[in-house]
Amino acid sequence: MKGKFILVIGPSGSGKGTLINHIRPLFPALQYPKSSTTRSMRANEKHGEHYYFLSREEFQSRIESGDFLEWAEYGGHFYGTLASEVMPLLDGGMTALKELEVQGVRQLQKKIPKEELAVIFVNAGSWSEMEARIRARASISETELEKRKERYQDEMNFMSEADFVIENHSGEVDAAKKRFAEVVESLIAG
Ligand code: 5GP
Repeated sequence: MKGKFILVIGPSGSGKGTLINHIRPLFPALQYPKSSTTRSMRANEKHGEHYYFLSREEFQSRIESGDFLEWAEYGGHFYGTLASEVMPLLDGGMTALKELEVQGVRQLQKKIPKEELAVIFVNAGSWSEMEARIRARASISETELEKRKERYQDEMNFMSEADFVIENHSGEVDAAKKRFAEVVESLIAG
């Protein structure tokens, strides 16, 4: 039997990372395929931990080689999932979970059979709530912030198409963590 690919989406600042960190110790068999990106490394990041940090030239050349299952430009940088990160897991019957933005989800929906995909949307409310969280998390330029705001509505438009929606408004993070863990557990159980 093939495995399942769980996609976690939601606007920048909606708390996807917090929810994913919460479940890491809970489901040891769950796999986390890494992303590749051309954005610069943040202070708390290491190459190959969450991201492979590639130059724009290298990213472009891997697009041309057909190495990416999906890729998108977001906030002026490239982000993508290498097929080699995911297909061996699904072929081996494992469950994998990955955070990505909606253009990538749409590409994966065309490539991976419906029964092997599940989309979880994290909704944390208005742009002003998101903006406060993004600013608190990392130093970010006003230009980059403006780009993320433009993408906010695109991401929100996907909510009605997701298989599951987790509400993660300010002050409700514990309830959101619990609900997220329940949904992931139900997907792992098949
Ligand atoms: P950040 O720069 O904050 O780590 O990520 C910015 C955006 O890129 C987030 O919305 C994140 O979900 C998305 N992202 C991260 N990895 C991938 C990926 O492999 N593919 C796509 N399409 N988006 C990604």
